[in-house]
Amino acid sequence: MNPADQMATGEPYDYLIVGAGFAGSVLAERLHAAGKRVLIVERREHIGGNAYDTYDDAGVLIHPYGPHIFHTNSADVFGYLSRFTEWRPYEHRVLASVEGQLVPMPINLDTVNALYGLNLTSFELESFFASRAEPVEQVRTSEDVVVSKVGRDLYRKFFQGYTRKQWGLDPSELDASVTARVPTRTTRDDRYFTDTYQAMPKHGYTRLFQNLLRGIPVLVNTDYREVIGVIPHRHLIYTGPVDAFFDHCYGRLPYRSLRFQHETHPTEQFQPTGTVNYPNDYAYTRVSEFKHITGQEHAQTSVVYEFPQAEGDPYYPVPRPENAELYRRYEALARARTDVTFVGRLATYRYYNMDQVVAQALATARRLLQPEAPLTAPGAAAT
Ligand SMILES: Cc1cc2nc3c(=O)[nH]c(=O)nc-3n(C[C@H](O)[C@H](O)[C@H](O)COP(=O)(O)OP(=O)(O)OC[C@H]3O[C@@H](n4cnc5c(N)ncnc54)[C@H](O)[C@@H]3O)c2cc1C
Repeated sequence: MNPADQMATGEPYDYLIVGAGFAGSVLAERLHAAGKRVLIVERREHIGGNAYDTYDDAGVLIHPYGPHIFHTNSADVFGYLSRFTEWRPYEHRVLASVEGQLVPMPINLDTVNALYGLNLTSFELESFFASRAEPVEQVRTSEDVVVSKVGRDLYRKFFQGYTRKQWGLDPSELDASVTARVPTRTTRDDRYFTDTYQAMPKHGYTRLFQNLLRGIPVLVNTDYREVIGVIPHRHLIYTGPVDAFFDHCYGRLPYRSLRFQHETHPTEQFQPTGTVNYPNDYAYTRVSEFKHITGQEHAQTSVVYEFPQAEGDPYYPVPRPENAELYRRYEALARARTDVTFVGRLATYRYYNMDQVVAQALATARRLLQPEAPLTAPGAAAT
């Protein structure tokens, strides 16, 4: 039922959902499937949140908000999404541009051999790392994580500059969790992720979202604040930034933003892999070429450069202890609101991948439909 007809009946929506990203859309699908009346309001002009994809002027499928690669260890999440999309198997590979060479990232056997002109075996590489690792009494920061594993030279070549650009902070000022997401390998495995399920939606994310939201009304170009007073509803589900919901009453939660520079080139291929990282040169952190990721065949190719910045759309919660502390104050306010459920990356201020948000939304739907079900969800591993 469309919103105007629904309002004419005088019956409130069971759920008004703010945001049509993975959190809002999965919840909408689950609740709708259980017979609930649901309406989504989305501030942007499209569904899909940051995972939205679209064809650019040249006809190349791009991710306007940066490359989104799907990977998960959760059979539940993969099985659930498989009801709304077919998949194209895809394992992401990343090269880092260091001292004039393109070498595999995460650091592996080939990275070290290429960089230092060596011919080590996996076994010898373990001793190589051990001989360079610096003992750190208590691993607290991102710098500690790397230096204690592979030593200061590799830390400087691959992590320090990249992290400074990405976060505007030195790794010594960031939680260990940031670089812990990027492993180091003694094998020749050059896949960026090692999850059990690695695949891209065959017809793109937007098509996946269209399938998820079939039969569910969505008001795009609508900030929920404009309509909350006029759309009767029993419960609100909020997937936007939690501090904005409470009018930043304790101050702003720091988020890192990005400027995306999209380009189309009159050539079939621009670079050898989906992503090339630039840890030390240029203001951008990485360049991604979509055709590697989507599998599209096209005579031209489109790439995106990512320039991290403080201002702009909130993309990444900044993992620092004082930010976690500030979030806890907002979380206390959120918990007190029994009329609102907060879900998703921005609403729970967590550095979640798509699969983790889907897992969180599925668990939240179970709890809303069956209040005694546990809320804790993400079985999916962080990457
Ligand atoms: C550059 C980048 C690359 C990423 N790459 C990957 C990747 O490769 N793999 C991976 O698994 N994950 C990746 N992620 C993470 C992924 O984007 C998130 O996990 C996922 O999008 C979170 O979904 P969500 O629904 O919580 O939030 P979002 O996708 O942000 O959706 C929230 C929605 O709420 C809307 N909204 C906010 N406030 C309001 C309001 N007041 N009124 C109405 N609507 C509102 C927003 O417009 C938005 O559409 C990446 C993230 C970024 C930023």
